[in-house]
Amino acid sequence: MCDVIQKFKKMLKIQCQINTAENQIIASSEYGNIHYILPFESLPQLETYDFIVWGFLPIAMRLGIPLHVDGPISIQTLHSAREVSTVWAAWLPDLYQPVMLSAASIIQTPPANQPTQNLSFFSGGIDSTYSTYKAFLENGQDSDCLTVHGMDYKFDDHEKFQALMDQTHSFRSQVFKQSRVVKTDAYALYSKYGCNPKGSHVTHIFSLFSCASIFEHYQQYRISADYRLDQQLFVHPYGSNTASNRLMKNRSGVLITLDDDVTRSQKTAFLSQSNLDLQTLSICVDYRARPKNCGQCSKCMRTKAMFYATSPEIPDIFLDQRFEKKWDQSIPLSSKINRAFLIDILSAVEKSSQQQQFPDYATLKVKVEAASKRAAINPFYGMKIKDVLRTIIKIIFGSNPR
Ligand SMILES: [Zn+2]
Repeated sequence: MCDVIQKFKKMLKIQCQINTAENQIIASSEYGNIHYILPFESLPQLETYDFIVWGFLPIAMRLGIPLHVDGPISIQTLHSAREVSTVWAAWLPDLYQPVMLSAASIIQTPPANQPTQNLSFFSGGIDSTYSTYKAFLENGQDSDCLTVHGMDYKFDDHEKFQALMDQTHSFRSQVFKQSRVVKTDAYALYSKYGCNPKGSHVTHIFSLFSCASIFEHYQQYRISADYRLDQQLFVHPYGSNTASNRLMKNRSGVLITLDDDVTRSQKTAFLSQSNLDLQTLSICVDYRARPKNCGQCSKCMRTKAMFYATSPEIPDIFLDQRFEKKWDQSIPLSSKINRAFLIDILSAVEKSSQQQQFPDYATLKVKVEAASKRAAINPFYGMKIKDVLRTIIKIIFGSNPR
């Protein structure tokens, strides 16, 4: 009974300190703070604190407690965030719970001026470069872009983040009306409360939409799909997906998922055949090499394979250009994300009739099929022993919520 009362009393109350001199916002709570810094522009005049809701929602979902903002939020965000938390709680009931939301005031009216502009998330990778370049070729500059610092690049690593900005400068100048950057340390808090499921990532979409919602005058907040829709079902659960993204709204606009009808191999082929200078691309997961591409990590090798699948000419964007037999050695097949990409690559090789030339095509095909069958019958496939034991204990004794 005491536990019930104690839980009832718990609430994630968030206050907002705005420092216009330093273009910094601190969203603070007794569970921890999230900083938002605009390094290259002044803070906009905030009409709502919708961005705080999106930033803290994964914490409230994880802890299973109500979220209260000490300031104004919009009715759109109130309804949308509640809905999104309900969806994630249904998908992952062991990790998340639906969240009740409240605020000092709820703004019921839409913005005075109907928003007409768009904001696209841009990381410099294949997906965001493809979607924004394609949109630019079709519609011209119809969007601003937002790059969030504190996700792929560590919060305090200005040097590497600036190198990314330099590497993508020419592309951004051509494709977007305006480039924006928000720096946040939200990931540290998500990590503290274990907000992501084992082997997958959910919180990135909340961090992105939170930072974007600081800018309250866009009608579309656009994100490129990481996977084609059928692949999204294959790798589920994954934070940025067409189903829950479309439910994410703030006062002025909605999150739109672009190009969920093409795979990454198809995007790579499009970029390869375009006139774009591919030196802009930053795809590597080896932090030491970023924003350059090491040419050896699993993601660099996958991307090389995608280029090679349609043309043996791999663009000169890798520090190590080699692509030869055993190229897939660094890619664990126990990961369903890797299997999704390898199935995509094998399919691209077959479509372009490159089976004979493509290094290790036949052996890879056999390995991927065997791994897929193994994963289908063995729920513990690829898991570390300690995670297997933890899962078995959970099955026997039930979950252990925070
Ligand atoms: Zn790499």
